[in-house]
Amino acid sequence: MRDPGCDNGNVSPTPAQQAQAARIAAELAALGFALPGTLADRMTRCGHPNCRCHADPPQLHGPYHQWTRKKNGRTATRILTDDQLDDYGPWFDSRRRLRELITELEDLSLAIAEADLDPHRFRRHHPKWHDGLRGENRKWDRLARSTPRSIRTKLWSW
Ligand SMILES: [Zn+2]
Repeated sequence: MRDPGCDNGNVSPTPAQQAQAARIAAELAALGFALPGTLADRMTRCGHPNCRCHADPPQLHGPYHQWTRKKNGRTATRILTDDQLDDYGPWFDSRRRLRELITELEDLSLAIAEADLDPHRFRRHHPKWHDGLRGENRKWDRLARSTPRSIRTKLWSW
């Protein structure tokens, strides 16, 4: 099918949506490094029965900065020193922000696509392409009429 040849800036996204995409891109570019997994401070007991961590009341060891992540489908754990926490802590924040930005970009893109794929809006902005599509749709209609209902349902639900 031929390119509709329209100016994408006039159809969609809107200036506000373009500004939002630009802001997301700028923040992504400035993000730096991103480490997967979670950080948690943990108190632990050791293996020595006479240690204060086994006393009553117990004085547990820690807190330890525990980094947990999935590695090859299993949970991997590392303990970070205070210095390492200072170095790598921001990388975990970056990872969290990265995922938020991905979600925001996906939601924005979905909003644009769903508005643009609305048939009435589409016809208004792409009259020529819409006529071409109507031809395509007639072929699909003929195909659908000659197709058993069970297969037809699969054709349309995507
Ligand atoms: Zn102990």
